[in-house]
Amino acid sequence: TPTAPPQHRVVMIGAPGVGKSTLITQFMTSEYMCAYDDSPAASSSLRSGWMQCSSRSHGNDEGGAERSVSVVLEGEEAELVFIHLQDITQAIAREGHADGWVVVYSISDRESFKSASTALGKVWSLGHVTHRAVILVGNKTDLERTRVVNTAEGRTLATTYECKFIEVSAGFDHNVDELLVGILTQIRLKQHAQ
Ligand code: GDP
Repeated sequence: TPTAPPQHRVVMIGAPGVGKSTLITQFMTSEYMCAYDDSPAASSSLRSGWMQCSSRSHGNDEGGAERSVSVVLEGEEAELVFIHLQDITQAIAREGHADGWVVVYSISDRESFKSASTALGKVWSLGHVTHRAVILVGNKTDLERTRVVNTAEGRTLATTYECKFIEVSAGFDHNVDELLVGILTQIRLKQHAQ
C-alpha cells in the first residue's frame, strides 16, 4: 500500500510587505510542484493533517493562511506546508518544531533587513541551524535601482548564523524554484544528519 509522503512544516518569517505571501504563491506554480491545494474544502485523506492545521489557525490575527505544496525532488515526493508569520516570538511559540525556517527581507528595505537579522538570531539561538533548514532570503531583486541592502551584507548575515542565503524576485519569478528546491534539500540533509 502506498504511504503518504512526508510532510514538512516551513515557517516564512519577515517584516510586513517583504513578499512572503507572494513567494508562497509563486511556489504553487513551480515546475517541481505536482499538486497543491489551498482550498478549505479539500477532503482527500492525504490532506487531512493539513486540514486540521488550517482550521486551528483560522481566526488568528496573522498566519491564518497555511498553504500546502507537494514537491517531487529526486524522485521522492514531499509535502511542504507553508505558514507565514511576522512575529518571530509568536512563530517560535506556535511553530517551534517546524522543519524549515525561511527568513525573508526586501533588498530595498533596510528595516526589513534589521528585522530579518533579529529573527535569524533568535532562530539560531534555539539551535535550529543544526537540525532544521534555515534560509535567509533577500527578495525583490528586480528593484535593483532602489536596492539598499547589498548582496554581501546578506551573505555575511547568513554566514554569521550558519544558514543558507539566496536572493530572489518573487514578483518576477527569479530564483524561486531554486529556493523551493533549496528548502526541501536542506530539510532532507538536516534530517539525515540527525
Ligand atoms: P508579505 O506581507 O510579506 O506577505 O508581502 P506580500 O507578498 O503581500 O507583498 C507585499 C508587496 O510587495 C505586494 O505589493 C507584492 O506585489 C510586492 N512584491 C512581492 N514580491 C515582490 C518582488 O519580488 N518584487 C517586487 N517589485 N514587488 C514584490
